Amino acid sequence: MFDKSRELFEEAKKYIAGGVNSPVRAFKNVGRHPLFIKKAKGSKIYDEDGNEFIDYVNSWGPAILGHADDEVINKTKDALDNGFSFGAPTILETELAKRIVRAFDSIEIVRFVNSGTEAAMSAIRLARGFTSRDNILKFNGCYHGHSDSLLVGAGSGSSTFGIPSSKGVPVDFAKHTILAEFNDLDGVEEIFKKHGDTIAAVIIEPVAGNMGVIKPKDGFLKGLRSICDKHGSLLIFDEVMTGFRLTYGGAQHIYNITPDITVLGKVVGGGFPVACFGAKREIMKYLAPEGDVYQAGTLSGNPVAMACGIATLDILKRKNPYKDLEKNTSKIVSRIMGLANQYGIPASGESIGSMFSVFFMENKPSNYRDVQKSNLRLFTNYFIGLLERGIYIPPSQFESNFITIKHSLEDIENTLVAVEDIFKEIASGKFY
Ligand code: PMP
Repeated sequence: MFDKSRELFEEAKKYIAGGVNSPVRAFKNVGRHPLFIKKAKGSKIYDEDGNEFIDYVNSWGPAILGHADDEVINKTKDALDNGFSFGAPTILETELAKRIVRAFDSIEIVRFVNSGTEAAMSAIRLARGFTSRDNILKFNGCYHGHSDSLLVGAGSGSSTFGIPSSKGVPVDFAKHTILAEFNDLDGVEEIFKKHGDTIAAVIIEPVAGNMGVIKPKDGFLKGLRSICDKHGSLLIFDEVMTGFRLTYGGAQHIYNITPDITVLGKVVGGGFPVACFGAKREIMKYLAPEGDVYQAGTLSGNPVAMACGIATLDILKRKNPYKDLEKNTSKIVSRIMGLANQYGIPASGESIGSMFSVFFMENKPSNYRDVQKSNLRLFTNYFIGLLERGIYIPPSQFESNFITIKHSLEDIENTLVAVEDIFKEIASGKFY
């Protein structure tokens, strides 16, 4: 069923590191080779072997309108016809910026970059420049791209300074990143008691998506806001995944918290490499050329990418699909939980907006430590079983699934039929 993809992967490995340009794509966790994708349209994705899949990866989040929306294609092509990179300002950048500023009360000014990594890295530099402090606090299991300061994993407990989670990150860099546990406000307070006057910023995914979907507990984000205010630290919301996805105004709109800096990516470029960070003018004026915090990019604000972002946001604004997306997502999760219950599979589900995760563990996790207890053997079976039945989900327990406005009720019913089939097999002792 996947022979051609296997051959293509072998060929790719001769020329590309590990055969992929981003590690999770390699399907290493699940002991498989990746599928080579030929094309995608709406809720479906097609591989080089000619298989069709209902897609729950959706480019890891950007494709909230489904793949290759006709209106987006046309508007993006119009921009392409005018030339595709000038290294000079265009009206399109101002147009996309206006839409973001109108959508987020916390943002007056933005700066565009090409990836979430760059945006989060630059937001941290800005916070350090603004506060003249070096340390930052991040949460175990939250991902903010792979810049050195943010590629820091678990230390030996929540109040220790971080250790690098990748070779090549100097310990001297990582030591400026303090780790706390998601949803543990007391832990954050302890850290601030000791180190508060050294902390430039707290960075968080307000709804975590990179350890599977985990929501903030009541009062957690509000607590962070007041701790930051008390100690003169900035609060950075990394809404790369949640911005324009949970609601048009992101997670901060749902939880009614105003961060100092917001990081956006994924949906904001509609599938082209666009990300940005934004804040009030008072903070953004520290950025070069006005201020002394340096940040730049040859392809930043690329006109074709801007046009794709503008078209995507305009459709979202016009259609306001968020309630329907949320309804469909919670339906999928509650039906999967019902099936898990019926077949005696230990599982818990979480969803918000159009993001969801199925965890193979009894109790809903509330942080990274909890999520480590999930049964990865069950997850791997679930993943492979779905793939073989034409359903494409992220190849890791620690990721979010996404639905789009193109996922039909028929897609959802077909997914549930596949899930039931797999749970039945697992219950009868059949594993892949
Ligand atoms: N922040 C968050 C919350 C993300 O989910 C991601 C990517 N999954 C990033 C930052 C990094 O974005 P990119 O992959 O575009 O560098």
